[in-house]
Amino acid sequence: MSANAADGPHMALPEDAAPASGGSPALPVARTIADLRIRVAAWRAAGETIGLVPTMGALHAGHVSLIERARAECRRVVASIFVNPTQFGPSEDFTRYPRDETADGTKLAAAGADLMFAPGVDEVYPQGFATAVTVEGLTRGLCGPLRPGHFAGVATVVTKLLLQCLPDVAVFGEKDFQQLQVVRRTVRDLDIPVRIVGAPTVRDAYGLALSSRNAYLSAEQLATARQLNRVLFEVADHLRRAPGDIAEALAQGRRRRPGAGFDELDYLAVCGIAALQPLGTVARPARVLAAAWLGRTRL
Ligand code: AMP
Repeated sequence: MSANAADGPHMALPEDAAPASGGSPALPVARTIADLRIRVAAWRAAGETIGLVPTMGALHAGHVSLIERARAECRRVVASIFVNPTQFGPSEDFTRYPRDETADGTKLAAAGADLMFAPGVDEVYPQGFATAVTVEGLTRGLCGPLRPGHFAGVATVVTKLLLQCLPDVAVFGEKDFQQLQVVRRTVRDLDIPVRIVGAPTVRDAYGLALSSRNAYLSAEQLATARQLNRVLFEVADHLRRAPGDIAEALAQGRRRRPGAGFDELDYLAVCGIAALQPLGTVARPARVLAAAWLGRTRL
């Protein structure tokens, strides 16, 4: 994109940049792909680099850490807020997923984001939309079989967001480790020209990973949720002491579940980080990964 192109009438930046409703007037909001592209093109024309942080909103300090990471990497930061219907199963929480764009706008402005991209569902999936990105292999285990269609929804929307924004860098959290690896593979396999950065999980004072879904939990459930993190660290500690003892470490972890108060443990596994294959003996680098149900909430 040349500098001149940004000056043409069709490329003019909207004068009346809509602020996040009720949020910080300093943070512009793009609702359409065309508007997003106009703003990004102007930054490109000025020689600026661009970081993208895709989110589903209801922002917390974990998201803010991704914005800060993107700011450290790039001159401009776009945060997308889009509760993506295609990554929710029919019985999942799409309709009740927490939404608070006003608070999100305030947090993004404070964190130093330059733009909120908050498209509607029809903008992302117009009538007749018929394409999906699926990633084999990596999605065969862990959350893949338990949430059919979830990773296709994620890979499809992330591909679209990357192509809409064309950032230099996109930042994702390690909290959703399988998602991060699926995104890395999508970008590599489809030759999307972006660098994917994985950022560490931000936890509360008791070690629980921050999550928008924590808002569903009662005070009592929050206390129980913090036990899941404890089980993960116990398994990791066990393996530091006895690296060949994965089966026993996992068995001990699973035995902790009823006492810890969880209703169901979807999985507790030790996996290699590249292919996410379950490991028999610890080969570094590896991750201890778990998903569990607490009432109607899946952590
Ligand atoms: P979400 O809004 O839940 O779809 O998450 C948007 C991005 O924020 C994803 O890349 C998540 O992995 C990341 N994220 C969510 N929670 C945390 C956390 N506690 N620490 C770091 N990153 C997170």
